[in-house]
Amino acid sequence: MKSIVTGGAGFLGSHLCDLLLEKGHEVICIDNLVTGNTRNIDHISSDRFTYLKHDITKPIYFGDNIDYIFHLASPASPVDYLELPIQTLKVGALGTYNMLGLAKEKKAKLLIASTSEVYGDPLVNPQPETYWGNVNPIGPRGVYDEAKRYAEAITMAYHRYHGIDTRIVRIFNTYGPRMRANDGRVVPNFINQALRGEDITVYGDGTQTRSFCYVSDLIDGIYRLMMSDFTEPMNIGNPAEMPVLEFAEEVIKLIESDSNITFENLPIDDPKVRRPDISRAKEVLGWEPNIGLKEGLKQTIDYFKELKEQ
Ligand code: NAD
Ligand code: UDP
Repeated sequence: MKSIVTGGAGFLGSHLCDLLLEKGHEVICIDNLVTGNTRNIDHISSDRFTYLKHDITKPIYFGDNIDYIFHLASPASPVDYLELPIQTLKVGALGTYNMLGLAKEKKAKLLIASTSEVYGDPLVNPQPETYWGNVNPIGPRGVYDEAKRYAEAITMAYHRYHGIDTRIVRIFNTYGPRMRANDGRVVPNFINQALRGEDITVYGDGTQTRSFCYVSDLIDGIYRLMMSDFTEPMNIGNPAEMPVLEFAEEVIKLIESDSNITFENLPIDDPKVRRPDISRAKEVLGWEPNIGLKEGLKQTIDYFKELKEQ
């Protein structure tokens, strides 16, 4: 079995490479390191693993057979995609187009990493896959949301028109070791602020909610989805929803930090609620998350503590 993982040197992609190698796949990791780092794959010594530095907005050709393409490449943190708006739009559009072309050529199965952001600032909570969303296309987050919505649209078009065997996973906030300490997302921000005894920066009044999924649960869900025959979008995330302020308090408690909480401006179009309806994943994949917030946070805190000491 030969698999490509685009974005394989990133947070989620590197964990997926590990799982695929464990399952016996040959893995080709493609990444241009725009937000990833080879540190995330340095531990891999398998001769079934290859890393290619390549920007997938440019075409790529392979002589050999490819069985599976996991297309995860894209800036993912709001701070990253606001700094890289054009790259984000290009990787969602041209990158997905190139991977669909490769899947067509190789008769490979293709899974694309979509996002809960396709629901925008949702007017329905929790969000089932049948909800069409509430996205501001021209707001600053539009570069990411619309790139992913386009990626879903072109994937379904190739599926319907060319008969490509495709999967769409809508990933909800996922955290764990190998997130970049400074990627700006709430989990690394709060943990590193608490570890340094700095103020915890809650944006807005902290009543906005998120639902946090531990990385191993997410990767298990992605693998199951790829191996299923389900071609409609699938939410994968942990439905345990909590306000951001409560999340800050939980991090402070777990780290036993003496950090204070300060309040800063809420970013434009920051979704007020977010929680996956995972009925579909339960029914079709027999999947649900196993790792609770405390356990997952402990693993993540240990990772950042180690990183700090290096
Ligand atoms: P990440 O930034 O750690 O990883 C993304 C990887 O893609 C990086 O290694 C980056 O260098 C690479 N990349 C970006 N553009 C590229 C290009 N043009 N060519 C080659 N490589 C490129 O982010 P992540 O959290 O691991 O996210 C992975 C995927 O999952 C993304 O598609 C993201 O949109 C999606 N996602 C993640 C979450 C989450 O909570 N982590 C939530 C929803 C969706
Ligand atoms: N957030 C925060 N403080 C931070 C970073 C983020 O309060 O230092 C908030 C952010 O405004 C959002 C939530 O935490 O409401 C999750 O933000 P993140 O950037 O992790 O991802 P999002 O879910 O918005 O894509």
